[in-house]
Amino acid sequence: MSRLFLILGDQLHPDPHPLLTDFNPASDQLLMIEAGEESTHVWSHKARSALFLAAMRHRAAAFRAAGLPVNYLRLGEHPHARLGDAVQTLLNDGDFSALVMLEAGDYRVQESLHAACAAAGKALLIRPDPHFLCSLDDFKAWAGDKVQLRMEYFYRWQRKRHRILMTGEEPVGGQWNFDADNRQSFGRQGPGLLPPPVRFAPDAITQSAIADVEHHFPDHPGETRHFAWAVTSSQAEEVLADFIRHRLPEFGRWQDAMWQGEPFLWHSLLSSAMNLKLIDPRRVIDATLTAYAAGHVPIAAAEGFIRQILGWREFVRGVYWRQMPLLASANQYDHQTPLPAWFWTGKTRAACLGSAIRQTLEHGYAHHIQRLMITGNFALIAGLEPRQVADWYLAVYVDAVDWVEEPNTLGMALNAWPGMTSKPYCASGAYIKRMSNHCRDCPYRPEQRSGPEACPFTTFYWDFLIRHSRRFSGNPRMALPLKNLGRFSPEETASITRHAETLRNNLDAL
Ligand code: FAD
Repeated sequence: MSRLFLILGDQLHPDPHPLLTDFNPASDQLLMIEAGEESTHVWSHKARSALFLAAMRHRAAAFRAAGLPVNYLRLGEHPHARLGDAVQTLLNDGDFSALVMLEAGDYRVQESLHAACAAAGKALLIRPDPHFLCSLDDFKAWAGDKVQLRMEYFYRWQRKRHRILMTGEEPVGGQWNFDADNRQSFGRQGPGLLPPPVRFAPDAITQSAIADVEHHFPDHPGETRHFAWAVTSSQAEEVLADFIRHRLPEFGRWQDAMWQGEPFLWHSLLSSAMNLKLIDPRRVIDATLTAYAAGHVPIAAAEGFIRQILGWREFVRGVYWRQMPLLASANQYDHQTPLPAWFWTGKTRAACLGSAIRQTLEHGYAHHIQRLMITGNFALIAGLEPRQVADWYLAVYVDAVDWVEEPNTLGMALNAWPGMTSKPYCASGAYIKRMSNHCRDCPYRPEQRSGPEACPFTTFYWDFLIRHSRRFSGNPRMALPLKNLGRFSPEETASITRHAETLRNNLDAL
């Protein structure tokens, strides 16, 4: 009996594709589906939708070129808005014994495929995705019944068991991290001459994907005219080689720095290619280790970068599958303020927010500190409703897939689920002033806590501490900010609370 092999849009692994080890072209069918719902369940950025479609179409072309027939359902050429409906119809119509797939990257999608198979009375065979260096079973065993999960301990465990940057049982260089050497700001002189990242002009296949997105989702946010993302495995290899050569040596040092008008800085731009599985994280780690061994990059940069891939990326995936579906509705602070409209336009006078959001709409990209300490920090301290914020993040980034976006937003940035950080990532305007040049051309003053010129980050930061001071009082990592808050007079505290309330009621006018 034949089986239906489904490859999802973020499962575009290079050859040999891990799903197809026992695929029999004589009896089995290979299926890929472009489903409109994947662009509409959140209001997806046009570049994000275009990237998925372009990469899927390139992968299907490569399968065909290798002699593998693909049943490819193209957007607008089949009647199914939802992935699950398309699969169910095929299972009902064909003589299939089972649907075979790799683990999905989205709980909603996995559930819909369970439902489709159940409705069609067919088996669903889900295979582990070997892309990741930590299987879901291994993560479960590591996490056990811990209430608090810490990336640092997970990362050390990963380093040891994969023997990465280890000398015997000790970390190379005698330290697990080199944060003291990293995380600098550009100061007044700015970043200087930046190495431009490699970008890819859309070929005919990518142009067809962009045209289809413009046709089917004309009112969606974001632009496609800057589209230059890697859409094939060989392009992803070029992105990696370019990063290792030109930007990795400075990666650690400038990892947290921001600069107006410079969206990419020393970042790798590898997340979308990795999340679509165009490139394996082992390739990325090996290339980093080779560059380090050759003396091309300092240990602080090599370790800092590997920590992101081997540590954070694998950690959040484990957290996602362990905590779903409850993670999606987490809201420990009971924050209820609606997302301001300028999150979709970038039209705000606050320079840092405007800059991060406008580049997001242009490219579908912002680097980590912009996501965490600008938009994320603002959403946390202003008290925005976490679900609306998470839907925004899922919609606007080209690398956004549920397993990585949700824990980063709800766990890390918003601290709506408290199990993965030891304190909230909250900061005032002083942090943004130190790490960027945004405040120079901004009408808001980071040193002012209330009044019409006060930086909203500064007002909301203190207001956040005031509102939740009782909750934070038992947390030693919050002791210093609370001590500083304790120095304010009752009048000062009341004035911050009043100003925060006024701002919160008029967020659209910020
Ligand atoms: P670099 O700065 O060059 O980092 C290298 C790689 O490390 C990235 O490509 C990524 O694969 C990995 N990495 C670094 N930090 C993380 C992290 N916290 N979690 C997972 N992987 C990490 N990343 C996504 O891939 N998709 C998302 O939808 C996403 N949403 C985020 C939402 C919020 C609120 C925050 C704070 C972070 C989010 N991140 C997400 C993590 C991180 O911001 C991006 O991976 C990174 O900015 C991508 O750019 P880059 O490839 O140039 O990364």
